[in-house]
Amino acid sequence: MEEEQWYWKALWLNIILAFSTAASLTRITAPYGRHTQAAPSSSLDVWGPSMPARDGWVLMESPALWFTLLVFSAGKHSSETVPLVLLRLFQLHYTHRALIYPFRMRSRGKTISIAIVALSFVFNIYNGYLQARWLSEFGTYPDTWLRSPQFISGSLLFAAGMVTNVWADSVLISLRKPGEERGGYKLPQGWLFSLVACPNYSGEILEWLGWALLTWSPAGLVFFIFTAANLIPRAVAHRRWYVSKFPEFPASRRAVIPFVL
Ligand code: NDP
Repeated sequence: MEEEQWYWKALWLNIILAFSTAASLTRITAPYGRHTQAAPSSSLDVWGPSMPARDGWVLMESPALWFTLLVFSAGKHSSETVPLVLLRLFQLHYTHRALIYPFRMRSRGKTISIAIVALSFVFNIYNGYLQARWLSEFGTYPDTWLRSPQFISGSLLFAAGMVTNVWADSVLISLRKPGEERGGYKLPQGWLFSLVACPNYSGEILEWLGWALLTWSPAGLVFFIFTAANLIPRAVAHRRWYVSKFPEFPASRRAVIPFVL
């Protein structure tokens, strides 16, 4: 079978994975961050040994940088302007996620399950292949693409999503004073936090919706679906957690989509 036929099968498999992920995450909450603490020890055992959280984040997110670059370079369009611009946008997000965000977290003494790190590492290889192979091999982007309505509107959404995501993560991280790494959860307040419990996830979902538009690609669409399938159930779990810990949590504050969910 030709590689392109395998590629389309891999895209469909990713959609199946997205729906299975959403279905499982409505029953089991991925045990990292606050849900590590909340989980009973018997369920934590299922997730096996842990490693330092910062190292885990760098390790699991970094394939989106190096592996994507490797796959992109092998494509026949890899030296064309538009594919290179699109790759830079993808890597802008992951330079922050893999190399900046982990060093901003207040993570002293925090751990993450090695199983979660391994799953995310493999996902980033898989997704990196799907995105990069589309950009530099199976997709076709004329130079005029940078003036197309899809690229312009998608880039605006991508930028708005990334700014929201980085801003909301910064607010959350700064809720803890240095030395409060263990526990020390607070109720975030103000601006988008008065509408949703997890504006960082709203920003991330918006970003990949923008990516789907600006690349106008099946790979971008599938990644957007996967991100929503992963983050919406987690946002719902976060909101449930806030309601159980903070009696003053406003009932009108949704999980991830203002006024809706
Ligand atoms: P969280 O919102 O759970 O946590 C973000 C950071 O803020 C953590 O360091 C957390 O500490 C801290 N924090 C959160 N809430 C509070 C609070 N109420 N009081 C004090 N500190 C708080 O996000 P995630 O860890 O799940 O994700 C981090 C980033 O990764 C996000 O930007 C997310 O969008 C992105 N991501 C993307 C995915 C995708 O599918 N594309 C999947 C998963 C994450 P602690 O760790 O101790 O809880």
